[in-house]
Amino acid sequence: MSTNAQLFERAQRVIPGGVNSPVRAFRAVGGTPRFISRAQGPYIFDAEGKRYIDYIGSWGPMILGHGHPEVLDAVQKAALEGFSFGAPTEREIELAEEILKLVPSMEQVRLVSSGTEAAMSAIRLARGATGRHKLIKFEGCYHGHADALLVKAGSGLATFGNPTSAGVPPEVVQHTLVLEYNNVAELEEAFQRHGADLACVMIEPIAGNMNFVRASIPFMTRLRELCTQHGALLVFDEVMTGFRVALGSAQSLYAKAIPGFAPDMSVFGKVIGGGMPLAAFGGKRAVMEKLAPLGPVYQAGTLSGNPVATACGLATLKQIQKPGFFEALSASTRTLVDGLNAAAKAAGVPFVVDCEGGMFGFFFGAALPQNYPAVMATDKERFNRFFHAMLDRGVYLAPALYEAGFVSAAHTAADIAATVEAAREAFKA
Ligand SMILES: *Cc1c(COP(=O)(O)O)cnc(C)c1O
Repeated sequence: MSTNAQLFERAQRVIPGGVNSPVRAFRAVGGTPRFISRAQGPYIFDAEGKRYIDYIGSWGPMILGHGHPEVLDAVQKAALEGFSFGAPTEREIELAEEILKLVPSMEQVRLVSSGTEAAMSAIRLARGATGRHKLIKFEGCYHGHADALLVKAGSGLATFGNPTSAGVPPEVVQHTLVLEYNNVAELEEAFQRHGADLACVMIEPIAGNMNFVRASIPFMTRLRELCTQHGALLVFDEVMTGFRVALGSAQSLYAKAIPGFAPDMSVFGKVIGGGMPLAAFGGKRAVMEKLAPLGPVYQAGTLSGNPVATACGLATLKQIQKPGFFEALSASTRTLVDGLNAAAKAAGVPFVVDCEGGMFGFFFGAALPQNYPAVMATDKERFNRFFHAMLDRGVYLAPALYEAGFVSAAHTAADIAATVEAAREAFKA
């Protein structure tokens, strides 16, 4: 049996950094990444046979926990029927119908294989449909690693950004404007200057790639008004929040708070694949019909709508629609964050938490951050100590302070109590 350290050593010889996605390398928190050999329910097991209560859930998809029997059954049946055909299937229609039923702001949807691909395609479509080039994104929001979206904030207010990655030419991001999240004044100024040239605004409605930060109701209200007024499409990136914070996704929560609210386009991933590579983007028919083969905006994929992935996604969406599913999941998540909060208070540690549905965030600080700089100003050293203390005690949290956490339907009251008990000790670390 190889240890995690041995596997990491071996991995680094053949895979850059030893990982196929950077955050897995534990760079932010230090230490040796755990190599996972299997998972069941709310648990993952590493190469050394150690068990962890899993609060990452593959970064969101595993909302039912690992190895849900009905999902497993659907995947096994689909695999026997064939892995991939490169031709349309009835199951793709079923999944599209299911998604549209749950997300009434969309009239049509196209299936792709990753959130990156979905977000990238949504931007191309928004540009093609409006005939405009410019787009707004917000600092701290992640929309996958397409070139035009790998941008950090510019130096001044409402200036265009600089690439965050080598290999992205400045020309490619020259049309991408990066604003501060939840900052209405910046938004108004940007629309005033560039409104007529804006194809779209892309936003994570609850930002899960800077831990857990909600777009405020006044901010979202103003954003919707400005987009409508200037003819820019409002694109909700719900790759993380979709079917995770509520059955109707984050947009259903904003629709409750803001009369008549709906985004123009939406992007999904993670939960809709139930752990298989599957993502989607959709919107009004008039916009979606600009896509090839009907319209001039090109987009394609060899494995798009893959029959095994769609079986997994459909089986997952079926489970989360059962009566009481989200009520129970929300209650579990609430019990967890309340427990963590109480344990932190008892230890005299400055700590704040928030959650929605099966997604949560916590910060070592005095108040919930409203934007990226505030997230990054929370206590990183304390987070890292807490992370490792929890990992040692068999609780697997996201290995960076700017990541969200996820609870699944498989987490029992006993798992959550054990987590809070571990935290009571870990807060002293
Ligand atoms: C995970 C994520 C993406 C990227 O999805 P991948 O499947 O990793 O390409 C895009 N947007 C958001 C909000 C995400 O959380």
